[in-house]
Amino acid sequence: MKFEEMPYVRVNKEETINEFKQLIDNAKSASDIDALFDNHKNYYALSDSVMTNMTLAQIRHSIDTSDEFYSGENDYYDELLPELQVYLDEYKKAIYNSPLRNELEKKIGKVAIKNIEISFKAFDENLVPLMQEENALITEYQKLIASAKIEFDGKINNISMMAPYMTCSDRETRKAAWKALDGYFLTVTDEIDTIYDKMVKNRTEQAHIMGYKDYVELGYYRMNRNSYNRDMVENFRRQVKESFVPFVSDIHRRRQERIGVDALKCYDNKVYFKQGNPKLVTSESEMIPAAVKMYHELSPETAEFINIMSDSNLFDIFTKPNKQQGGYMTYLPNFKVPFVFGNCNGTFDDVGLITHECGHAFQGYLVRDYEISEDLEITMETAETHSMSMEYFTYNWMDMFFGDRTEDYKTLHGEDSVIFIPYGCLVDEFQHKVYENPDLTPKERKELWSELEKSYRPLLDYEDNEFFAGGGYWQRQMHIFTNPFYYIDYVLASINAMQFKVRMNEDYEGAWQDYLKLCRLSAKGFFTDMIEECGLKSPFEDGTISELTDKLRETM
Ligand code: ZN
Repeated sequence: MKFEEMPYVRVNKEETINEFKQLIDNAKSASDIDALFDNHKNYYALSDSVMTNMTLAQIRHSIDTSDEFYSGENDYYDELLPELQVYLDEYKKAIYNSPLRNELEKKIGKVAIKNIEISFKAFDENLVPLMQEENALITEYQKLIASAKIEFDGKINNISMMAPYMTCSDRETRKAAWKALDGYFLTVTDEIDTIYDKMVKNRTEQAHIMGYKDYVELGYYRMNRNSYNRDMVENFRRQVKESFVPFVSDIHRRRQERIGVDALKCYDNKVYFKQGNPKLVTSESEMIPAAVKMYHELSPETAEFINIMSDSNLFDIFTKPNKQQGGYMTYLPNFKVPFVFGNCNGTFDDVGLITHECGHAFQGYLVRDYEISEDLEITMETAETHSMSMEYFTYNWMDMFFGDRTEDYKTLHGEDSVIFIPYGCLVDEFQHKVYENPDLTPKERKELWSELEKSYRPLLDYEDNEFFAGGGYWQRQMHIFTNPFYYIDYVLASINAMQFKVRMNEDYEGAWQDYLKLCRLSAKGFFTDMIEECGLKSPFEDGTISELTDKLRETM
């Protein structure tokens, strides 16, 4: 079925709650494991149906945030979801407290049981009003950013549309584009500060209701961290500071020389070559057909996957006004297909978006027939390992997108990925400090960001861009608002993807088979165990990061 033909039906609140109540009663009264598990399968069916309709509405809303119908539906789910969570929580308690739990564990696995325990620490029905307010604040931020109207080059642009100017080979143009973006943020920064301040206070209050000292603890449970903790993450960031920050500084100097400037400025960020970054040789209409060809050649599994994606119109990846920013992959359980959303704007980043989101989508497709839904509930560092590794596994096909500048693209992608590591840690440490000190004023938060920026990105120079120089850069970073503590997952995943890259230099096929294995393991194991099973070293272990840095230095 094509995406546009998929029928959408609003999730009926009363009916859904009644069905949940029935499931809860049945779980409590189940006399043997067969009865309990049959009931559990009905729970899968109910949550699949809710997820499918809600996700359809969310996708259609994000494609056009000015569409009043789906905007209304989106608001409806902002309210509904926390209310349904009360019953979901009660259902989980019923199966967790069942005398048949050990037998159920044999069916759904120990990871699923651990995740249920964490979910109890992440939610309480007393939080519902605050969670509803939190969702509304997230939507407010997203709408504000999506509606940005920046006058530049004789037209009105949204933020994504500014990216080609900000990475333009003409330095004066990109300098002016940065200035225009800086100017835009100066007009909205007070509003963003207000939204974020409310978010921090809201989330802190939720943590206090749960009896935690601060939101960091609750945030970790919300991210379903089931195999590592705050100390391990801190140790990871320390290793990054020791090994990657100097590595990035070396790349910075090399890049400065390559593009021929006396000093790199913020507007030279994301510019890797004097003649400009490699440009796509594919037009918009050629992008998907190129992706189809690439995945046909990569493996039989990816060939089957891309056929479904393309035949069913499961891509909406080109930017247009009123589209939500960013890119994502999501999944429609009832149709057993993924969906990929993006804001391709004609820059090299478009290829990264396609390969990245297709990594997520491919994994979702590979495990579409798993009977145990819990096996699909992957934590985000694992999900991002699937997607970021795919960015490297597709290197051999980059000539289709970049022609004679394919090597330049690989240089750019490799350096960009390395530069990202300290940035991702900066976002993470910033959020830890923000939630550990919820009473910081907006001004103090900006000072904090500037301070941390000095240790993670010591060579960054914002020149006279008042908003960015004043510690405002994080206000562009959607995850800080929408998904607290998500960001480190990208960093952990990128370290895994780089380990795969090192391995594929030596043995591509072997690395690919281990990648497939990791995708198929899905959520059957804990992150730290699964990556080791697939031949990768834990990013938390002392030495992993410095060893990886040494290996990358040899080839970059
Ligand atoms: Zn991703």
